[in-house]
Amino acid sequence: MPIQRFRISTDRRHQIIDITSQVQEIVRAVGCDQGLACISVPHCTCAVYVNENESGLVADMLALLSQLPAGDSWRHNRIDNNAEAHLMASLVGNSTCLPVSGGQVELGTWQRIMLIELDGPRERRITLTVVPG
Ligand code: ZN
Repeated sequence: MPIQRFRISTDRRHQIIDITSQVQEIVRAVGCDQGLACISVPHCTCAVYVNENESGLVADMLALLSQLPAGDSWRHNRIDNNAEAHLMASLVGNSTCLPVSGGQVELGTWQRIMLIELDGPRERRITLTVVPG
């Protein structure tokens, strides 16, 4: 099946989780030799990106996003008080598409697929669409 889903439980308000191994396992199971893999999250307060899973850089990413001012000035806070999480998620983006080659998502030596939780803890769903091509 070209569309696969899996879940990740986060345990902190802000958290970054490497989901590369889960994505690679699913792409292998799908059996797509060449094509495109789109990894997306059907949520408004978490995001996905590709970069190095180095502890300092992970902390830097959270520190950078945390510089977004908190407070009552965000209009969405009148609804459920998590405007910063929505805005941070929008800046990072809710999907990333990567080439599949040799039955694997093609990544650079240091690249990893990262889920960033911005309003946890929650259970998050990840959708993986594999398109042969
Ligand atoms: Zn909200």
